[in-house]
Parts: sequence; structure tokens; C-alpha cells
Amino acid sequence: MSCIFCKIAKGEVKSTTLYQDDKVVAFPDINPKAPVHILVIPRKHIASVSDLTEADEALVGHLFTVASKLAKEQGISEHGYRLVVNCGPHAGQMVAHLHLHILGGRQLLMMG
Ligand code: AMP
Ligand code: ZN
Repeated sequence: MSCIFCKIAKGEVKSTTLYQDDKVVAFPDINPKAPVHILVIPRKHIASVSDLTEADEALVGHLFTVASKLAKEQGISEHGYRLVVNCGPHAGQMVAHLHLHILGGRQLLMMG
């Protein structure tokens, strides 16, 4: 498996772990688009939202709960932040392992 996010989840590629448990891992985006830019990923390899099944519903909910906790920890919860999930080529998904972007720390513009 050559998936970069699987490697990060397994500790085979270095990153700064901001949160981890048996289901998910969170780490800073390597190319931040905002003062706070964190990725939350499931440990399980799921390529994209298109590959989710009903069995993943609790896991997806957990990604959001962890994102909410991290936003509070990072001090961006009060002013607000954006959660983004890109799915497929038209959305510009670059890494084929489901990930939730947390973006905050500045006024964000509307997306195109
Ligand atoms: P997406 O366009 O939604 O697939 O976003 C992929 C994100 O992963 C981009 O914002 C990249 O900057 C980020 N990224 C790629 N490789 C790494 C890495 N090794 N560590 C942290 N972030 C990464
Ligand atoms: Zn993966």
C-alpha cells in the first residue's frame, strides 16, 4: 500500500500528531492554506466519500467530533472555521484517502 496517509497513520511517514485514537489521526497539513490547517483521517483506508458504506457512519461522525474538539483546542472555535472534504477530480482531491480539512484562524473567502 503506497498511500501516504496510511503511512502517516502507521507512523511510517513523519508528521506531528495533534490527536490520535484507535479510529482516527489528526496532523497539520504540509501546505497550510490558513493559520490553522489540520487534516483528520480515519486509520482505515477509505479512498473518498464515494467509497463510504453504512458501516462507516459512526466513523464519519467521529471525524467530525474530533474536528470540533481540535478546533476548540486550537482556539479557532469562537471565531469559526471551515470543514472541507474534497471528493474526486472536480473537487481537486489530491490524496485518495478520506480526510477532513479543518481551516481557520483568518476570514475565509467563499469557495469557487
Ligand atoms: P485534497 O486536495 O483534499 O486531497 O488535500 C490533500 C491535502 O493533503 C493537501 O492540502 C496537501 O497539502 C496535504 N498533504 C499531502 N501530503 C501531506 C503530508 N505528507 N503531510 C501533511 N499533509 C499532506
Ligand atoms: Zn490510505
